[in-house]
Amino acid sequence: MEATEKELKAILAEVSDLNRASMVLAWDQETNMPPGGVESRGQQSAALRKLAHERFTGDQVGRLLDQLEPRVEAAPFDSDQASLVRVTRREYEKQRKVPPEHVAESARCAAHAHPAWVRARKDNDFGHFAPYLKRNVELSKKLAEYMGYDKHPYDALSDRTEPGLTTEQLDRLFGELKAAIVPLVKQIAGNRDAVDDRCLFGDFDPEKQLEFTHQLTARLGYDYQRGRQDLSPHPFSVAFGPGDVRITTRVRRDWLPYCLFSSIHECGHALYNQGISHDLDRTPLWGGSSPGIHESQSRLWENLVGRSLPFWKHFFPELARRFPSLKKADAEAFFKAVNKVQPSLIRTEADEVTYNLHVVVRYELENELLEDRLRVEDLPEAWNARMKAYLGVAPPNDTEGCLQDIHWSGSAFGGFHGYTLGNVAGAQLMEKIRRDLPDLDRQVEAGEFQTLLGWLQDNVYRHGRKFTPNELLERVTGRPLVAGPWIAYVRGKFSALYGLKEAAARPL
Ligand code: ZN
Repeated sequence: MEATEKELKAILAEVSDLNRASMVLAWDQETNMPPGGVESRGQQSAALRKLAHERFTGDQVGRLLDQLEPRVEAAPFDSDQASLVRVTRREYEKQRKVPPEHVAESARCAAHAHPAWVRARKDNDFGHFAPYLKRNVELSKKLAEYMGYDKHPYDALSDRTEPGLTTEQLDRLFGELKAAIVPLVKQIAGNRDAVDDRCLFGDFDPEKQLEFTHQLTARLGYDYQRGRQDLSPHPFSVAFGPGDVRITTRVRRDWLPYCLFSSIHECGHALYNQGISHDLDRTPLWGGSSPGIHESQSRLWENLVGRSLPFWKHFFPELARRFPSLKKADAEAFFKAVNKVQPSLIRTEADEVTYNLHVVVRYELENELLEDRLRVEDLPEAWNARMKAYLGVAPPNDTEGCLQDIHWSGSAFGGFHGYTLGNVAGAQLMEKIRRDLPDLDRQVEAGEFQTLLGWLQDNVYRHGRKFTPNELLERVTGRPLVAGPWIAYVRGKFSALYGLKEAAARPL
C-alpha cells in the first residue's frame, strides 16, 4: 500500500475506533448502566464523538483525499480503493459542515433526553419529555442549516442518512404505498375473521423464549462467537467490529411474537454486519449501505422469511415442544396467526400491511416540527389525530402514542423513512432472490438458510457501505428503489391469507 493511502487509513482507523468506543458506551447505557450514570455517560459520549469528529474533519484528511483522487480515477467504481476515496470524500464534505461543538452538544443532549424519555413513558407524562424534545428539534433544525437545503430541512437531514434519495422520490413512494395499502386494509377488515391469533396469547416462560430465539438465530447463521443477545426495552443491534456484533431483544410472558420477531429482526441486522468484508474494517466503508438498506435486511429475515409458511413448517414443531399450549394449533394456523392484520398503536408490533402507515405518520409530523408548522406541546394531539385518520385507532395515552419510539430522544431527525425503505427494498431484493434461487421455499422448509445467506453476503453484505441505496439496488436488481415488488408481495400474500378475490397463489 502506498504511503498516502496508508496515512489516510491510519486516521480513518482511529476515527472508527473512537466511534466504536462511544457505541460500546451507548450499548452499556441501554442494557446495564444504573440510572445515576447519566451525567458521566453524557460527558464521555460527547468527548469521544467530538474527538472522532475533529480527527475526521481535519485538514489532513482533505489533503490526503486531494492527493488520492487522481490516482484512483482509473480504478473500477466498486474496487475497495476507489470506493474508500469516494465514500470518505462524501462523508468528509458532509461532516465538515458541522462544527464539533454541535456534535458534542447533540451527544450530551441525547444522553440526558434518553432517561427523560424512559421516565416520561413510565409515568405516561409527555410534559416531562417535552423540553428535551424541544431541544432536539432545535438541534436538528440547526443541523439542517449547517448541511444546507433548498426547500425542506428534511432534505438535508435525509441526505445524511440515505444519500442520493430525494424527497421527491420519497413522496412518490409514500403516495404509491398509501394508494395500495388503504384499500387493502379495508378489504381485509371486511374478512377479519379469516385469521385467528389466539394461540399467540398465553403463559410462555421468558427463559424458554430466550433460549428458543437464541437457537433460532444461530440456525439462521448468526455467529455467537462474534455476537451476543441481551435484553433492552427497545431492541437494537450494534457492531463494534467484525468480531463483535451484538443484538438485544425484549420478552413478554403473555404474548409470543414480541420476543420472537424482535430477535429475528435484530438478527437480520447482525447478519448484515457479520457479513461485511473484513478488508473494509476500520474504514468508513465498514457498515451498511444506509440505515434503510440495513432495515431491508432485518425486515427480509423477520417478514419475508420469518413470517412465511415454509419457515414455520420447519420451526413450529420445535416451538410447540417447548410451549405445549401451542399444540392446539399447527404450522399453518401459527403462520396465519403471526400474519394477522390489525391496525394497531405500536409501530414495532405492526403487521406488514399497516406498518408503513405508522412511518407515514412520523414522516409527516417530523417534517411539520422541523418547519415550525407544529409545536412540540401540540405533538400528542397531532399524533393521535393522524393515527385516527390513517389507521383508524386512537392511543389511550402518550406512552402508546408519540412517546413510543426511542428516536426522538436523540437529535437525529430525518431518518424514519428508512423503515419504509427497508420494507420496499427488502421485497425488491427478494424478487431477484426468487429468480436466482427458485428452490428457496423448499430450502427454508428444510431449515437450510446457507444458500440465502450466501446470496445476500455476496450481493449485499460484503460490500459494506461502498454503494448508496439506489446504486446497490440498481447493481443487484437492475433498477433503483421502486414500490412495485413490495405492493405485489403484500397483495399476493394477504389476499391469499384472507381469501380475497385477487388471491395470488404464492404462499411466501
Ligand atoms: Zn431494525
